[in-house]
Amino acid sequence: MFDQYLGISPKGDLLLLQMLGEKLNKRSFLHINSTREGGGVAEILQRMIPILNELGIEARWEVIEGDPNFFEITKKIHNALQGNPEDVTEDMWQYHFEVNRRNAEKISLEADAILIHDPQPAALIEFKKNGSWIWRCHIDLSNPHQKVSDYLCRYCQRYDAAIFSVSKFARSIGIDEFIVSPSIDPISEKNRALTEDEIDETFNKFQIPRDRPIILQVSRFDRFKDPLGVIKAFRTVKKYNDCILVLAGSPATDDPEGEAVLNEVKEYAANDPDIFILLLPPFSDKDINALQRTAAVVLQKSLKEGFGLTVSEAMWKGKPVIGGAVGGIPLQIMHGVTGFLIHSVEGAAFRIRQLLNNPEMSNRMGEKGREFVRKNFLITRQIRDYLSIWYSLENKGKNVIEL
Ligand code: UDP
Repeated sequence: MFDQYLGISPKGDLLLLQMLGEKLNKRSFLHINSTREGGGVAEILQRMIPILNELGIEARWEVIEGDPNFFEITKKIHNALQGNPEDVTEDMWQYHFEVNRRNAEKISLEADAILIHDPQPAALIEFKKNGSWIWRCHIDLSNPHQKVSDYLCRYCQRYDAAIFSVSKFARSIGIDEFIVSPSIDPISEKNRALTEDEIDETFNKFQIPRDRPIILQVSRFDRFKDPLGVIKAFRTVKKYNDCILVLAGSPATDDPEGEAVLNEVKEYAANDPDIFILLLPPFSDKDINALQRTAAVVLQKSLKEGFGLTVSEAMWKGKPVIGGAVGGIPLQIMHGVTGFLIHSVEGAAFRIRQLLNNPEMSNRMGEKGREFVRKNFLITRQIRDYLSIWYSLENKGKNVIEL
C-alpha cells in the first residue's frame, strides 16, 4: 500500500515517513474521536490507521459512545466554539464528563501516544495513565464563545501538546502547540481516478442530467456550511447561465442537527427541478468522487470551517473551488490562482459566473490546484507531521533530534 504513494506524494515526505516508522516501530498510537462515519475526522482516520500499521506502528482507532443528550451537548459546545452564543451549563459539562468517564472504563487508554480528536472526548485526559497525550482540534476557533472555550481549556491544559489546523486558532494554553493541516488520501475511493462508466453509474443512479454545467457543494447539512447561501447564489447565476445545482450530504452520528438543516434546505429549494439535494448514505465515496469529477464549479461556501477537506478533494480532481474566506479554506485556495475566496452570496454568484464563462481559466486554475494539493495536503504529509510531533515530544529538551 505504501508503495502506491510513490510518484504521487512528494519524495521527501515518504523518506521521512519511513525513517519515523523505523524509529517508532512496534510502538502504539491510539486515536479517539466520536464517530466512525461522516465528517472530515472520520474520513482521515479511516485511511490513516492502515497506513500507520503498515509503517510498523501499532495504531488503533476507538470511538466514544454517547446518547442523544451527550451529542446535543457536544454540538452546542461545537457551535459555541465556532462563535454561536450558546449557553453550556455546568450540568451539561458534568454530563459531558460523566460520558467520558464511562467511556474511559470501556476503552483501553494504554498507548505510547494518544491523539484525542475534538472536544467530545477531551475529558478523557482525566484518565491518563501513560504515554504522550495530544489534543487535536479540528474546529474553527477564530472567534469562540469565551466561556465555553475557557471551560474546555481546563482539559486542554492537561495534555502534553495540542494541534490546530490553522495558526490563528491556536491560543496560549501553556503547553506545546503545533499547526498541522488535515489532508486527503489520493488513492482512496473518494479520490482515485474513475472510469467514465463509473461516473455514468453515479449520474444514472441519481438521475442528474449532464447536459448543463453542474455547480456542486458536498457537505454535512450544517448551517456553518451555508447551504441556503449556496442556493441563493445559484439563483442569481441562473438568471444568466443555465446550470444545475447539486447539494450532497450525509448524516454524521455525532451531529444531531443534520435533519433539521436538511429540511430547511429542502423547503428553501422549493422543488426547483434544477436543484438536486442528495442525502447520501455513509461511505458514498465513489459517488462523491464522481460528482466532484463532473462538476464545472465546486463550492465550499462555509461561514466557519476548521479546514474543509472537500476543498482539497475537489482541487485534487482539477476543479477550481470557490470557498468562504474562513478557517482553513484560505490555506487551500490561493485567490485568483487555484480558485476564489468569497465573503458573500453576491461574491459567490459573481465568481461562479466568471468560471462558467471561462472554461480555459477554470482548467488552468484546476491544474494549479492539483499541484498545490500534491505538495501540501496529501495524507503522507499529515502522517509525517503527526509522527514528528510524537517523536519530538519523546525527545523533548534535546537541541537536535536525530532520526
Ligand atoms: N462527506 C461525505 N459524504 C457527505 C458529505 C461529506 O463523505 O455526504 C465527506 C467529504 O467528502 C469530506 C468530509 O466528509 O471528506 C467532510 O470534511 P470537511 O473537512 O469538509 O468538513 P466537516 O464535515 O469535517 O466539517
